[in-house]
Amino acid sequence: MEQKKSRLLRMTLKGGEARVFLCDTTEMAQQARDMHNASNTCTAAMGRMLAAVSIMGAGLKSEGDRITATINGGGPAGPICGVAGPDGVVKVTIENPQVELPLKPNGKLDVGGALGKDGQLTIMRSFSYGEPYVGRVQLVSGEIAEDFAMYYLESEQTPSLCALGTLVGETVLSAGGILIQAMPGCSDALLNALEVRAELFGSISQLLQEMTLEELAYACFRDLEPEVLEEIPLELRCDCSREYIERVLLSMGEKEIRDLIRTQNGCEVSCHFCRSHYAFTGEELERLLQKARNDEEDV
Ligand SMILES: [Zn+2]
Repeated sequence: MEQKKSRLLRMTLKGGEARVFLCDTTEMAQQARDMHNASNTCTAAMGRMLAAVSIMGAGLKSEGDRITATINGGGPAGPICGVAGPDGVVKVTIENPQVELPLKPNGKLDVGGALGKDGQLTIMRSFSYGEPYVGRVQLVSGEIAEDFAMYYLESEQTPSLCALGTLVGETVLSAGGILIQAMPGCSDALLNALEVRAELFGSISQLLQEMTLEELAYACFRDLEPEVLEEIPLELRCDCSREYIERVLLSMGEKEIRDLIRTQNGCEVSCHFCRSHYAFTGEELERLLQKARNDEEDV
């Protein structure tokens, strides 16, 4: 079966009383699974995180803005981190992608167990200009959707309904998510209408397996004046480069680099997000230090 392209719909209900972000991240979740050689549970975690940051990225204003979300819950899979921009370019990484846990009694993958819930969800919004904004909330469950909903409530004072899901078999069968936010002045009638639908979104991954985003939007909201404002194609892509890795190396300081030259005559660095390897010989590290020194003198 041909996989659906990953994409996101930005919508309003009732002329703007509520806004909705709805995304299908099936293809990206499969790519992330292959890239990180991930277990089913870690694939589910990455699929949910991809949907969560895609949604948050779609709410950013300008092209160079970025959202970085990290869940550090102390679980065996280690921290998970997702990055997204308003252009739909997304990346994800998890520290120990091969960690697998038994299914929960309800038959679902134990994402909360793998990530742990003893820690925080950290959201960093960085902008083309100026200081980044960092917000944090204590984890509710490490299941990701509840943790993001808590972030929206505590940090942005916006009541939000958030559901994220990944259905994993031999391949990723479906992945995606939905965020519904009541805007100031939202009527009780609409709040009630949304509340009765909350349970439905608990099975968002099954819904996405059966329907396109448009079909799902129509099925769920047809009586609430749904209006699609924008469709954003989503793409899993890492923006790392040799120049970026050089900057990371230099940020470790000259002493560390000298140690690498002396003890192993070079180093190999791999990008956490795309697992690309970058190798530097001792000579190349020397040149890097020399270049940094020249750049400093130029200033
Ligand atoms: Zn990379």
